[in-house]
Amino acid sequence: MMVLTRKMIEIRNILTQVGQSNTLTLPSIVVIGSQSSGKSSVLEAIVGHEFLPKGSNMVTRRPIELTLVNTPNAQAEYGEFPALGLGKITDFSQIQRTLTDLNLAVSDKDCVSDDPIQLHIYSPHVPDLSMIDLPGYIQVAGSDQPPELKQKISDLCDKYIQAPNIILAISAADVDLANSTALRASRRVDPRGERTIGVITKMDLVDAERGASILTDKKYPLRLGYVGVVSRVPQTTTLFSRGSGNITNAIVKNERAYFSAHPSHFGPNSETSVGVPTLREKLMNVLEQTMARSLAGTRDAISQELEEATYEFKVQYNDRPLSAESYLAESLDSFKHSFKAFAESFGRPQVRELLKHELDQRVMDILAQRYWNKPIEDLSEATLDVDPLKDLPKADPENLYWHRKLDASTSNLTKLGIGRVATTVVASALQQHVERLVAQSTFASHPYAQNAIMEACNGILNDRFFSTSDQVENCIKPYKFEIEVEEPEWAKGRESVSKVLKEELTACEGALRRVEDQIGKRKLKDVMSFVDKVRKGEAVLEGNGAGGAGGFSAALLEKGREGIFLRDRADIIKMRLLAVRSKQCSTLKNKYYCPEVFLDVVADKLTSTAVLFLNVELLSEFYYNFPRELDQRLGRHLSDSEVERFAREDPRVRRHLDVIKKKETLELALQKIESLRQLEGRSRNAGRGE
Ligand code: GDP
Repeated sequence: MMVLTRKMIEIRNILTQVGQSNTLTLPSIVVIGSQSSGKSSVLEAIVGHEFLPKGSNMVTRRPIELTLVNTPNAQAEYGEFPALGLGKITDFSQIQRTLTDLNLAVSDKDCVSDDPIQLHIYSPHVPDLSMIDLPGYIQVAGSDQPPELKQKISDLCDKYIQAPNIILAISAADVDLANSTALRASRRVDPRGERTIGVITKMDLVDAERGASILTDKKYPLRLGYVGVVSRVPQTTTLFSRGSGNITNAIVKNERAYFSAHPSHFGPNSETSVGVPTLREKLMNVLEQTMARSLAGTRDAISQELEEATYEFKVQYNDRPLSAESYLAESLDSFKHSFKAFAESFGRPQVRELLKHELDQRVMDILAQRYWNKPIEDLSEATLDVDPLKDLPKADPENLYWHRKLDASTSNLTKLGIGRVATTVVASALQQHVERLVAQSTFASHPYAQNAIMEACNGILNDRFFSTSDQVENCIKPYKFEIEVEEPEWAKGRESVSKVLKEELTACEGALRRVEDQIGKRKLKDVMSFVDKVRKGEAVLEGNGAGGAGGFSAALLEKGREGIFLRDRADIIKMRLLAVRSKQCSTLKNKYYCPEVFLDVVADKLTSTAVLFLNVELLSEFYYNFPRELDQRLGRHLSDSEVERFAREDPRVRRHLDVIKKKETLELALQKIESLRQLEGRSRNAGRGE
């Protein structure tokens, strides 16, 4: 019949995976007792090894859920912490150290925690038992312990000693039973003494008569009775056998020597029940019976929980199956798919446009610096020999001044570090696109995957950056010395720069309107005309101008200057737009009149050359490597627990997975409990038949 306990323990462990809901607990033996009552000694005598934390500093701070599994055909004895994944531990002092560490991880401030430690012990010498060791009761909290500790321990024990659990109340023989905290606690929850086993330790410390009278106590009667033990490890046990061998025999031998010396009190014909083997036997029987009684109730509880989980799965998730691996694989697939679609839409023409646009801006800046610098801040510039704006349309092709100006501008453009600029523009475009794809993908709610993807992306781009920008820079090198332009290129450049100038004009006018909107059209007009007057010397800025003048605040004056800048810039662009469209600019011969067109042609040549190499060095490489890098980081190289952790980052996925897991676990538990009931039914019938 012992098979029942074993199977129930198995089911109990399955159910703990679902989370400890109150209805779903299977009975266990809960061990309570005051500090130093001999609680650890009893448990160790049953297990046959010293494995519990020892020390004066409150070393049991968390419940230890101890599952003993009898392995009749095995030689080895070992322990396992299922939640820690440390594997089999055959050295019990290692188990002791681990338990000590786990307990001491609870801070001195809290001192106790209700988060249980699960420990399984497999041995041919242990019975199938499920026991829970709790922190020992204390009388008063020590000076370095929180004052509420006594209450906290008591509350924690109360939580565990509820029905249907069996209470193993440990009291020492040399302490008056009336003072036993364990018995008092048990009485509170089990007033009729129906599910409490009394264990009296240290029987050797009182005389036999007194010992026997404790065991037959009538004042605190317990239906399951009292068992007296001498569970201390005898001093004679060698260090060697204490460390590695099984200590049960030594304890039992020592204990038997004591009890058999007093046959009238403890012999087979006495009323008392004594010895660790008797206790073991009793625990097994009581647990077995309790489990058998709870079989039907537990079955109902499980099937009800299962119904709820099944319903939730249907209603919330439409019975859609999901696993962490399938979720990751699908997410990765669809991300790679969207990346492929992007890669197909972002090729040479797009890179070309991007880069040309960037260079157009640089061309505008160079033009503004070298040609369009109509004196704004400093009127003294009007005294220059040549007023560039006025003079440009008739710029003399023979005049070295205009040659130098165009050469310098061209050189500004070719030497601005095209390699770096181009690579940066394309790399950051790729990066932004990948960011956008991530944001639109299921990975959006997975910080871990997001990081991995962006690291993969940036890793490749960084790797390629220097060689790409070097290559590009090398290839445009010839343009730094000479640029040949053909008439058709000129015509195209003229078209192109007209468009750019128009856009620039629109941008300027838009900016001016925004300033107007900020301070009002009228006010802007007033402050601009004041600033204009200052420029022309018709008005003065009082003081140093910082505090404001002409009735305008410093901030308003600043807006006025901005307005004038934008207005003037718009005027210049309009004029230059007319010039570019004029007949004069229709031919390459007049390139000195039309630096805009010339620089556009140069920008276009630089762009074309750069794009060729960007395509090979950066784009193709990126498109080839990125999906592979994703596979590396998010594909098969992740461990199961990493995949699980990834999937669980998304709360919706986590809930979905939880429901499935709960359903599967409950189904398994239910299946096991059904077959157990059948087994039990059969053996009951067989019993009757005999
Ligand atoms: P716990 O604090 O309740 O876990 O108590 P321990 O099992 O650590 O025991 C406290 C002390 O009592 C230790 O020094 C043990 O050696 C001693 N002890 C435990 N059981 C017995 C026993 O049956 N007889 C004697 N004489 N001492 C015992």
